[in-house]
Amino acid sequence: TTASLLSVFDGNGVTADGHLVPLLANVGGAADAVKAAAAGAQGVGLLRTEFCFLERETEPSHEEQIAAYRGVFDAFPGKKVVVRTLDAGADKPLPFLTDATEPNPALGVRGYRTDTTSPGVLERQLGAIAEAAKDTSADVWVMAPMISTPAEAADFAAMCATAGLTTPGVMVEVPSAAVTAESILREVAFASLGTNDLTQYTMAADRQLGPLAALNNPWQPAVLELVRLTVAGAESEGTGKPVGVCGEAASDPALAVVLVGLGVSTLSMTARSLAGVGAVLATVTHEEAQKIAKLALSATSPEEARRLAREKLPILAELG
Ligand code: PEP
Ligand code: MG
Repeated sequence: TTASLLSVFDGNGVTADGHLVPLLANVGGAADAVKAAAAGAQGVGLLRTEFCFLERETEPSHEEQIAAYRGVFDAFPGKKVVVRTLDAGADKPLPFLTDATEPNPALGVRGYRTDTTSPGVLERQLGAIAEAAKDTSADVWVMAPMISTPAEAADFAAMCATAGLTTPGVMVEVPSAAVTAESILREVAFASLGTNDLTQYTMAADRQLGPLAALNNPWQPAVLELVRLTVAGAESEGTGKPVGVCGEAASDPALAVVLVGLGVSTLSMTARSLAGVGAVLATVTHEEAQKIAKLALSATSPEEARRLAREKLPILAELG
């Protein structure tokens, strides 16, 4: 039954043949983190720090930031917590960082790009993250959103090093980052695919527009191909740097299997999806996941990709 399948989940993502895929949580602050830990998350794959400060007119103070980050670290002692630096702009404006009058905010100064218009905010945030990390046993990683070039990745890594943060990474959510993943990964320790924005920018379809929902689908073969390319870039880089996924795609159990088959090493999702993804992953071997990923990549439409993958995953009918 569904209940017994879900109750088997103990928080560790693993395929039928024992290939480990840590299942992590996307959180927006300490309250989310506590719930995610209770749901069995093996860590945090995405802390959306801008969610901690959405109502703020001014930059949060050093102390305020430390308290916000430490609340998350404390929920995951000894576990990995990936802190994303402020991703302000487009659908998530922050008055102290973004310009509300930009004509085209999704293509504007958002994410890491705000470092050029508001110099200092990112350095101060990295300082607060480093300070919060000092009194915790959490394994703190830090990543920048909206990285588009290897030069940006290198600059971010240098800023992290200055702050004393030793595991810098980038989000791959702009097609240029997927295409240049090998060069980008030479500069940083890991990458995390943000499939929400990667889909929006690959398909040139605003992720908030209902009429474009069919284009804005992470099953689009073009998006899957960019995931494949990112993993291939990481493999060419040659030192085994991990590539995870932290977009909504990871919370769709069938798509999660495809992503694992494409070679991603961790999946981060909303906490309520952890058990379902874990249950489906446990029914396939790594090799089967690779075959299912190949099938999905061979499709010419998102509907076909999804159908081909789901046909190979009979457990989905049982889970509903
Ligand atoms: C993404 O773009 O997939 C992502 C995880 O970041 P956000 O949804 O916060 O833009
Ligand atoms: Mg994003």
